[in-house]
Amino acid sequence: MSTPVDIAIIGGGNAGISLAAALALHDSPLRTVVIEPSLPQQRDCSWALWANRKQSAELKFAIKGQWRRWQVIGHSGAVKHHSSTYSYISLSAAAYIEEREASLDDKIDLVREKVVSVDSDSTGGLVVTDQQSFLASHIFDSRPPKMADASLRQHFLGWEIKTSKPIDDADIATLMDFRVDQSRGLHFIYVLPFSDQHLLIESTLISSSLEDKQWYRDALNQWLSEREIKIESTVMEEYGVIPMDVVQAQQYSTPTIGASSGAVRRSSGYAFNHIQQQTRELAAGIAKGNFDVPLAISNKLIAMDTIFNGVLANNPHLGPELFIRTAKALNGDQFARFMLGKANLWDWLRVIFAMPKIPFIRQLFRG
Ligand SMILES: Cc1cc2nc3c(=O)[nH]c(=O)nc-3n(C[C@H](O)[C@H](O)[C@H](O)COP(=O)(O)OP(=O)(O)OC[C@H]3O[C@@H](n4cnc5c(N)ncnc54)[C@H](O)[C@@H]3O)c2cc1C
Repeated sequence: MSTPVDIAIIGGGNAGISLAAALALHDSPLRTVVIEPSLPQQRDCSWALWANRKQSAELKFAIKGQWRRWQVIGHSGAVKHHSSTYSYISLSAAAYIEEREASLDDKIDLVREKVVSVDSDSTGGLVVTDQQSFLASHIFDSRPPKMADASLRQHFLGWEIKTSKPIDDADIATLMDFRVDQSRGLHFIYVLPFSDQHLLIESTLISSSLEDKQWYRDALNQWLSEREIKIESTVMEEYGVIPMDVVQAQQYSTPTIGASSGAVRRSSGYAFNHIQQQTRELAAGIAKGNFDVPLAISNKLIAMDTIFNGVLANNPHLGPELFIRTAKALNGDQFARFMLGKANLWDWLRVIFAMPKIPFIRQLFRG
C-alpha cells in the first residue's frame, strides 16, 4: 500500500534538500518526504558562488575556500578584480547537504531510496521507489535533467591536489585561464587555491561534444608542468557536465526544481544562488498555499544569455575575448553582480558597449 504524503521531493541535492530545509524552517505542517538514494559524501564536489558577507556567514559551515580577489587570464595578460562587498566562495557540497539534512530534524522524512517511476499530473500522483511507494498531493522533481546530444554544455574534470612546494598568488582565484589548447571548443583552466599547497584545478570546455576523460587530465598535467607545479597527492577527482542550453525534465508532467527547471545560468553554468532563491520562494509560497514553482532565472536574463551563447557557438574563436572584455568592462562588485544575475542597467550597458558589435548584431538577426 502506498504511503500518503502532502509533498514528495524527488532528489535531495542542492534544490531538493534546500527546499526541504526551507519547509522545515517554516514549520510546515504538511507531511513531506525527500527521496534521495545517495549519501552526501558520495555526491561531494565543489560548489562555488559569489556571496556577500551575510550569505558567507550563513554558509560558513560548508566553506572550503574564500577569495576577495579573482582573475581571468588571456594571452595578453590578466584582468584582476577585487571586491569588498562580495567574496568568491567554494563550498563542500557534502558538508552543505549534511547540514541541511540534519536541519530537517524529525519534521521531514528523508528516505535513502531511488525513485524508479512517477505517475503524475501537474498536481500530484504516485512516486514509486525501489522499496515502497508514496501517494503525493504535490511532487517536486529535482532529478538531473536530460540534455540533447548536440546542446551546448560546460564539461570539466578537476583535481583537488596537494602540491610539493608552495605556489605563487595563493590569495587569488583564477576563474578562467585561456592559455590552453582551444582546438576542441572554448577551453580554460580554473584554479582555486585553498592554501599555497592545496588547490582545486579544473580543465573546463564549453562545447557540444564531450571529450574522453584523459583529454582533460592531459590538459591539467600540461598546465601544471608549464608552471613547474608538482603534485604531492591527489585528494579527489571530480567530473561534471552542466547544461548551457534548454533542458528537458525527466518527466514532462511533474513540476521540477533546480537544474531540471532551468536554474543553471546558460552563459556561465552557475546555479547555486538561483536554486537557493527558487527554493526559498517556493517554501514561502507553500506556507501560504501556493505550490507554483517560481522561475529560477528571469526570462530577460535567459534571453540575454541565449544571445551570448549563440555568439559563442557561431564564433568559438571569439570565446576568450568575450569573457576578457566582460571582465575588463566591470570592476569587482559589478562583475560579481553580473555573475549573480543582479546586474543593474549601468552594469549591462558597460558589458554591451564592450562587446564586439558585428557578431552580436548578426546573432540578433539569426534570432
Ligand atoms: C560536478 C559539478 C560541479 C558544479 N559546480 C557548480 C558551481 O561551482 N557553482 C554553481 O553554481 N553550480 C555548479 N554546478 C551546477 C549544479 O548543477 C548545481 O549547483 C546543483 O548541484 C544543481 O542542483 P540540483 O538539485 O538541481 O541537482 P543535484 O544537486 O544534482 O541533485 C539532484 C539529486 O537527484 C538525485 N537523484 C538522481 N536520480 C534519482 C532517482 N532516481 N531518485 C531519487 N533521487 C535521484 C541525485 O542523487 C542528486 O542528489 C555544478 C554541477 C556539477 C555536476
